[in-house]
Amino acid sequence: MVLDHIGHIADEPMDVPVASARPGALVEPRVLLVGRPGSGKGTQGERLSARLDVHYLSTGDLLRRHIAANTSLGRSVERLVLAGELVPDELIAAIVMSCIGVGGYVLDGFPRTVEQAAALSSLASTAPNLVIELVVSPAVVISRLAGRNRSDDDIEVARRRLDLYDTETAPMLAGFERDGILRRVDGDGTVAAVEAEVWRETMRALEGTLLVN
Ligand code: AMP
Repeated sequence: MVLDHIGHIADEPMDVPVASARPGALVEPRVLLVGRPGSGKGTQGERLSARLDVHYLSTGDLLRRHIAANTSLGRSVERLVLAGELVPDELIAAIVMSCIGVGGYVLDGFPRTVEQAAALSSLASTAPNLVIELVVSPAVVISRLAGRNRSDDDIEVARRRLDLYDTETAPMLAGFERDGILRRVDGDGTVAAVEAEVWRETMRALEGTLLVN
């Protein structure tokens, strides 16, 4: 029941698997994939979660599914998502916290603000142990966004989303950098090259603390 924690819009839950703890793991991998729109978070997030065998959650995909299914949550966030604005911190934090359970995860698109990061880190069982920023050059971002067919990739809206990354998400990354859990990966290369680098950084950061094959 995805939306149990948020009362008035809990009437139309979407089907999102809840992660569970795996017996035997020393530390569950809890990884955030962060990056500008078009940085490849979705593609890399799915691959990394498959390799780590943990739950993958993309908040953008989840919200788009709600909008497409015309749920009450979808209706309440549609205007914001189409305009490239962020949905309220408390709302998205409640949704994510109800989805991730106590197991490992790869999160794509959450947290995006200092407040969302504080909510995620408020419990030892949900706090991330690795944050990977996919760093992409402006030319690559523009060509990737132009090649997609999403209504929030319209040029004005994409510009707003890029601005919000700088004003809201970059300060959040500074906090993770101070905590010593931020790694940066060059996201300009091919999918396979970026995947290899993401995996190398993940192993470098978490090896010895995880039971990962
Ligand atoms: P994404 O696919 O991650 O780029 O997300 C698409 C849109 O969903 C964003 O532009 C926001 O409108 C909304 N969204 C996704 N994740 C969040 C979040 N963590 N906080 C606020 N809004 C979000």
